[in-house]
Amino acid sequence: MPERPDANCRQCLLREMTDKANARLAEDLEAWIAYIPLQQRAEPAETERRLVLCRRCPYLERGTCQLCGCYVEYRASFNLQDCPDLPSRWTLPGESAEAQH
Ligand code: SF4
Repeated sequence: MPERPDANCRQCLLREMTDKANARLAEDLEAWIAYIPLQQRAEPAETERRLVLCRRCPYLERGTCQLCGCYVEYRASFNLQDCPDLPSRWTLPGESAEAQH
């Protein structure tokens, strides 16, 4: 069985880290996401698309975006939120930011 990432996994999302502190934080984050009103919540497929891009991003550090300080799993769960980088790393080449929302 492959070793699971821990707190030293720089390019990981919180939900992927299994050390006790981050696993607990990931559970809390899941609960916070569940409290986002449905009309403000991004579609699950859109959230996952954004998180794939975050995982490739040099600003991701242990689940946190170093540009805005957000846990990316939380930020990516809001339909009107965007990546804080300029240009947005969540917008695909040829797409406008509005097309994402
Ligand atoms: S800069 Fe954008 S893509 Fe990079 S970690 Fe932050 S939110 Fe994710």
